[in-house]
Amino acid sequence: MNTSAGLCLADERHVRQAITRLPEDYVRLHLHIGRATSGTAEFATGTKELPVPLRLDVEGLQREIVEEAVRWSEPVAEACGVPWDTQHARDSRPGPLLTQACTLLADRLPVLLALRDVPQLVWDVDHQRTVLERDGVDGALRLLDLHHRAGRVLAVDRKIYRLPEPCPACGVSAVEHADGADIVDCRDCGVRFVWDDFRRRTDPLARLEEAS
Ligand SMILES: [Zn+2]
Repeated sequence: MNTSAGLCLADERHVRQAITRLPEDYVRLHLHIGRATSGTAEFATGTKELPVPLRLDVEGLQREIVEEAVRWSEPVAEACGVPWDTQHARDSRPGPLLTQACTLLADRLPVLLALRDVPQLVWDVDHQRTVLERDGVDGALRLLDLHHRAGRVLAVDRKIYRLPEPCPACGVSAVEHADGADIVDCRDCGVRFVWDDFRRRTDPLARLEEAS
């Protein structure tokens, strides 16, 4: 890769958009895996979970997204003189940490792209930790690639509609239905319903039909 040439403006826009969407990718990947049923067991009828190998792949992708975004946040923050608490980041939950990292990177993309020879601790092909010197452009392109990989995993969930009815579990209007799926997911509390069950809980007509 010719890192000295950097990225053209169109690519830069593309990368910024991808970085901005990574936190949402992360959440969608999480929904894609399926939910643990503890605490919401009464709603859990028909919950579908991915088979374990697929699940591990998706979790690995989630982890890579967080690692890559966080890895670049520290040098970017340092170059801009903005605070970034590495220790705090290490202790933070991955979702909010990723949002924080992606906001920082998207807002300061030219700084990321200008970084050269940043030493980073990475896993090599033999699963050993090694220090590699990498450029910001490599990081930007890897974040773009991670967004694309998430898109491919989530392609099966495409055409997702936000439903107007509030979630029966949390009351927030954040329930989404993937076209043709027999389940719906609440983006707010994460509960998952079988479609018929959801209709019964939210649509008075569905209840009447059943009673008659
Ligand atoms: Zn909810």
